[in-house]
Amino acid sequence: MVWRTRFAPAPTGYLHLGHVVNAIHVWGIARAFGGEVLLRIEDHDRTRCRDDYEDALLDDLDWLGFVPDVGRTDSFRASRHGHPHGHPQRQSDNEARYAAALASLGARDVTYVCTCTRRDIARHAPHAPGEEPRYPGTCRDARHAETESLARRVCMDGGMELFDDRRLGPMRQSPADQCGDVLVRDRHGQWTYQFAVVVDDMAHDIDVVIRGEDLLASTGRQLRLAAMLGRERPLHWWHHPLLVHPDGSKLSKANRDTSIRERRAAGVCAAALLGEAAFLSGLLPAARDLSIDELPALFR
Ligand code: GLU
Repeated sequence: MVWRTRFAPAPTGYLHLGHVVNAIHVWGIARAFGGEVLLRIEDHDRTRCRDDYEDALLDDLDWLGFVPDVGRTDSFRASRHGHPHGHPQRQSDNEARYAAALASLGARDVTYVCTCTRRDIARHAPHAPGEEPRYPGTCRDARHAETESLARRVCMDGGMELFDDRRLGPMRQSPADQCGDVLVRDRHGQWTYQFAVVVDDMAHDIDVVIRGEDLLASTGRQLRLAAMLGRERPLHWWHHPLLVHPDGSKLSKANRDTSIRERRAAGVCAAALLGEAAFLSGLLPAARDLSIDELPALFR
């Protein structure tokens, strides 16, 4: 049986070397072990996503040589925003999918209306800078009317989520302690990353999630949400190292020197960029030109 993974960038900026590291893992592992890759455009946050970033990321993927098995780049170009049918793998075209998932949780009485602002949460649940705020459950029993806010949370009761990360080994996470009740739609009516990604990984029959370690802490709550939504297909995880500069500093998305656009404009070739990303994420002992056909060998 062919298993499926996904590459799921958010068009909130240009692709950078960190995305290339992720794509190398996604395509390399899929090609090495008989999986297929689905491309999903994660534009759930309409305030930050832009159509020209989507165009640029499709173009950069083509240039780098990453060809999805499901959701070819041309299929996204052919279904621009406003196209009557949209695209099954562009989040902003699939509102109804998230609304139905929320309704199914609502029917089980595990969701509630939340009227808290970020400032309210910071006041009730102080946390150190860089630390994740834990929602203290302020609105859980308040029974606010549906009209009071569009924001909805899903109850995270106590208990551990256990999973076996393919790289990091056995993991235990407690969503109730880490983040508390998960926000699934914000007060502007936008679906959150945590919710959209779970609903989509189910809708797209994803078997293995291959992504950076920065998202490791989200895995427990995503497993919990998936179980609440009735996911039966097992889901596997492979969290890969993040890209670090040779001086040890982490890559920032705002770091302009790493945008693929600019590197292309400066005349760098795709093989050099692939080699640089593979080196900076520890997959190669030194930077060298790397062709897309060599990726599976990095993981076998
Ligand atoms: N859209 C997310 C990002 O660009 C990736 C989501 C995921 O892999 O779970 O960081």
